[in-house]
Amino acid sequence: MAAPNRTAPNRAGRSSLLLSPNSVLANALLRTIDVLRPRVHAARPARIEFVVGTQINGAPHLGTNLVQTAAFLIAKTARREFSIDTVVRFGALDNAPHEVVLDPETHHAYQQSYYHALGKDQVAALIDTYYSEFFNSLSEATDTDYAVETYTDQQATPGFRAEFLRTLDRLENLRWWMAPSHGTVHIRIPCPECGWAEKRADRTKVARLDEDGATFTAVCLDHGTYETHIDPEDDQPYLDLATLYRNLVKERAFGRDGDTLHVMMKGGDWAFGCQLVDGALGALATPAAQMPTRIFTPQVLAPTGAKLSKSLLREQGKGALPPDVEPWMLDTTAWPDGTDNYVDALVWLVGELLTDPKHFFRSFTVKELGRLMTARPTEPAVRAHEMGIYKRYFDLIATGRKTTEIRVNDSSRKKIKEGSLIRFRCQGDQVLTRVTRIVRYTSFDEMFDHESVTSVNPLATRYEQLANIRQIYPPEREALGVLAIGIELVDPPRKTPAVSGW
Ligand SMILES: [Zn+2]
Repeated sequence: MAAPNRTAPNRAGRSSLLLSPNSVLANALLRTIDVLRPRVHAARPARIEFVVGTQINGAPHLGTNLVQTAAFLIAKTARREFSIDTVVRFGALDNAPHEVVLDPETHHAYQQSYYHALGKDQVAALIDTYYSEFFNSLSEATDTDYAVETYTDQQATPGFRAEFLRTLDRLENLRWWMAPSHGTVHIRIPCPECGWAEKRADRTKVARLDEDGATFTAVCLDHGTYETHIDPEDDQPYLDLATLYRNLVKERAFGRDGDTLHVMMKGGDWAFGCQLVDGALGALATPAAQMPTRIFTPQVLAPTGAKLSKSLLREQGKGALPPDVEPWMLDTTAWPDGTDNYVDALVWLVGELLTDPKHFFRSFTVKELGRLMTARPTEPAVRAHEMGIYKRYFDLIATGRKTTEIRVNDSSRKKIKEGSLIRFRCQGDQVLTRVTRIVRYTSFDEMFDHESVTSVNPLATRYEQLANIRQIYPPEREALGVLAIGIELVDPPRKTPAVSGW
């Protein structure tokens, strides 16, 4: 039976590994996950989606994988902490420029996106190459489901288009937030004939706004002037927005979903950029309840203190590679020991950062991350589903007297099968078990009609057990369905200190 994870992290004894000064945000939080609590209390969402957007134009570097790992780990912690189902939504930015050319006469820059250059199938293959194995491994390690959505899919949705059209009504108020230096927002609507678009949208104009949508005129370098119409009901033409504008429209569209709380997971450098997005959200009179929720993750810094950047190194050559940067930090496919090993190392690292908000809401140099990684446990952890549990049930499991565990059937349970391992955790202790069988029921009553009451708990009657279970799980959780999980101790039974307590 699930124990709410209410114990504060054990900060004593961890100081030898990480030392972080206090900060304004860390000072306001007992635990990292608390950063979400005000929003969860205010919105009472049915589920939480952790949204992480990533460029697909090359192998990921450590900074990218760190944000993604944080998304999966915080999703896992939030599910346990708030008893709300959580998933990760991975946004693949296939609108990144694949090629840029200059109009030889006017010198206007034109660009072609990854989607337009490669097409849907090749974009999917790129995502598969860089991320599928990594995400599947992370998903397994954290019992958290994920979905992949490309920018191309997203811009075609009625919600995204409707929000975009709403911004056009207030374009005069918005444009200085979205383009503070010149006031020209970058709305790119590629030429319907060739797919190329004006990079800075200097000659892309709103011709008309009406109840059906918006009509634009634009100029192609090969095909001259063209007119297109954006209508929320239609997924054509393609709508490519510059980074800040895309985030504004995306966050506004997510804000309208009353059932799902969307949490934007962003690298720490976004904290600066979001000031402008927030100005634009204000200019659109966005209601407080629809303002975006964001978590900024630790930045990975070169020795100079600048963000670790592949493009900077590409421009400057490998000679500019700082001595502390290991090859896998720039291209994580260079990790020597395979994906699961890499993911386990990252899960351990980010888990350590999450133990204290002082460690999580800060930046790390590559040298410090390298030092931490060498301090990780040498014996790889046995991969297992993890469950927190009350002491009285933990002791029954550890002594082999409780052989049926009861849970509600939320998304994190989908992957549990006969033969899976489950690690039960309680107050710093853990015990490893193997699943012998798994049966699904519609309610706790139905479950007790079929399961042995003493195998669930040898010390209480059916009536007492039902009362206890219903104190833990409210009716809306029971409505997800009930799992009876047969368990046996894995030999030799190990009762060792837990690796991390967050
Ligand atoms: Zn064209």
